[in-house]
Amino acid sequence: MRIVLISTPIGFLGSGKGGGVELTLNSLVSGLISLGHFVEVVAPKNSRLHESNVNAKLHVVEGEDQISWQHQNYNSPVSIPDNSLLAGMLEKGLDIAKHADVLLNMSYDWLPIWMTLNLDIPIAHIISMGSESLVISNLISKVYAKYPNNFAFHSKMQANDYPFIKKPTIIGNGFNLDNYIFQDSDKGPLAWVGRIAPEKGLEDAVYVANQLGEKLKVWGFIEDKMYASKIEKSFPQGAIDWMGFLSTDELQKELGKCRGLLNTPKWNEAYGNVIVEALACGVPVVAYKRGGPSEIIKHGQTGYLVDPDDKKNMLSYVEILEKIKRQKCREWVEKNASADIFANKVVNWLNKVMHEYK
Ligand code: UDP
Repeated sequence: MRIVLISTPIGFLGSGKGGGVELTLNSLVSGLISLGHFVEVVAPKNSRLHESNVNAKLHVVEGEDQISWQHQNYNSPVSIPDNSLLAGMLEKGLDIAKHADVLLNMSYDWLPIWMTLNLDIPIAHIISMGSESLVISNLISKVYAKYPNNFAFHSKMQANDYPFIKKPTIIGNGFNLDNYIFQDSDKGPLAWVGRIAPEKGLEDAVYVANQLGEKLKVWGFIEDKMYASKIEKSFPQGAIDWMGFLSTDELQKELGKCRGLLNTPKWNEAYGNVIVEALACGVPVVAYKRGGPSEIIKHGQTGYLVDPDDKKNMLSYVEILEKIKRQKCREWVEKNASADIFANKVVNWLNKVMHEYK
């Protein structure tokens, strides 16, 4: 298969601004290549693919980023800036796709989904978020009526946000396991990893660590500086150990030294890459039972699921983290979320999409 992948129009690959899509794209590319497919990627200027993806061709495009939908009102209209990066990436993608079998869009935005109605070549969409925009949900509904196979979701809970989709295609997610080393260090600090933005609920994790008299180690791109400083001010000085945004290689080395990861989403988390990355290093996860995390974590085996927003409940589970066998965490990822397993699911789905166009 010749596949043209369109990246997110928010931040270049490697910037952290694109959130989990950046890593998902990279592991999908390596999974597809190892299955023998040809992959070309269209992404913003300055993007870099993971070094293991040298066999994928990267095309970069310059332009203005889109505004992330989770930081707009649900009823906001679509806005496309002058010199739009998204439009530029789509133009480039369409040009390359003349010689390809399928376009695979990974940007959660209106324009690529709308194009589905007007294109002769197959275009498939990995929807990376729950319903964050009325105009996009309505458009997905309209396109779905004509092309019921063209959408895939990371988790059932995420797909529930689109109730008009009767039998959603669920592809989970995949991780290049060679990039994560198992560590058996169950006495380390508590960790939190993610974009620093309100939908990620960092404040609840700081509360839990602070109640235990511990510093919380926080890794991630600070997307919302005001939000970050508000949290910092509402806890005693030094409650947060800001570790910055690291590459996967550096992140996994540090994360693997921790005894647990706290995951505190305030939105319907589509998947939760950081959970699986922690598990891959042998780090159990305590997470709110909301969205993707509730399908990933096996309560009592790879971590604990906690009533959403119940910080005290989270605290009580953190206190029994040592009951989780770290090896079990790694095993779950190997059996369920490797890059190859993920790529196979995506290929099966793309075959279905392509069949519709024959
Ligand atoms: N991440 C990273 N370095 C860091 C912190 C986070 O590369 O220091 C990446 C992490 O690997 C994950 C992404 O940021 O792929 C966050 O994705 P997730 O699915 O957890 O949430 P999203 O940001 O997509 O809502």
